[in-house]
Amino acid sequence: MYRLVSKERRDRSVVSVAGRVRIGEGGFTVIAGPCAVESREQIERTAAHVARKGATMLRGGAYKPRTSPYSFQGLGDAGVEMIARASSACGIPAVVEALSERELPLLAQRVAMIQIGARNMQNFALLRAVAKAGLPILLKRGPAATLDELLYAAEYIVLEGNEQIVLCERGVRGFDPHTRNLLDLAGALRLKELTHLPVIVDPSHATGRRSLVGPLAVAAAAAGLDGVMVEVHPEPETARSDAEQALDFAMFDAMMEAIARTGRLPAGKVSVAACR
Ligand code: PEP
Ligand code: MN
Repeated sequence: MYRLVSKERRDRSVVSVAGRVRIGEGGFTVIAGPCAVESREQIERTAAHVARKGATMLRGGAYKPRTSPYSFQGLGDAGVEMIARASSACGIPAVVEALSERELPLLAQRVAMIQIGARNMQNFALLRAVAKAGLPILLKRGPAATLDELLYAAEYIVLEGNEQIVLCERGVRGFDPHTRNLLDLAGALRLKELTHLPVIVDPSHATGRRSLVGPLAVAAAAAGLDGVMVEVHPEPETARSDAEQALDFAMFDAMMEAIARTGRLPAGKVSVAACR
């Protein structure tokens, strides 16, 4: 059994990011940003906008796990530098995915949280290595992984001494091409019954369609989950990856207003007026 992540060991754990964001404490964490960091201007504009509108964390991929080797692979180390600057300028901690062990030292130095993507959920060597990077970890569920497999993957990380893990349901493979994946909301809620770790959902990769992202984020908030991660781009039609699922700024704002109506956003959160 996954003893260490089990609900029997503890009722709930809170994951602290950069000493500023507390995930799993009862509020609803909103992590927003582009699929991939594409330029300084793109990540800075996005960071400024989402921070001002109440996002708690910034996302943006630098090393992209693309299905086709011919697709844009991300800006690599230069992308990490860009998101790190945008993050500190706007006072909003950043999460970036690691694809391999090589990237861990730079990420550990420059960002606040490391993501392990769906494709690497059972890369056990990477799980062991990321546990030792000294940062909290966002662990995404594989598109065909059972809840038990996800929990065992988290158990690998805890066994290496790192309990700061947030689980993310990002859609499982379905049969209908109208949505990219199926958002397993019931599975995410079941996880909350099985583990003390915080659980968030990613309606962007789950649906592949921007029109469905906001409503599912609201559903996750209303259902009592711990947060969402959504893709936002200043000009979605030009995005170099996942263009169809990126929210523009107006859609992001509408989503934030709808989430606020659930009463799950931290009350009286001071918004950042402008980034440095
Ligand atoms: C991502 O969040 O950038 C990503 C690639 O998602 P996933 O690993 O869930 O496909
Ligand atoms: Mn993406």
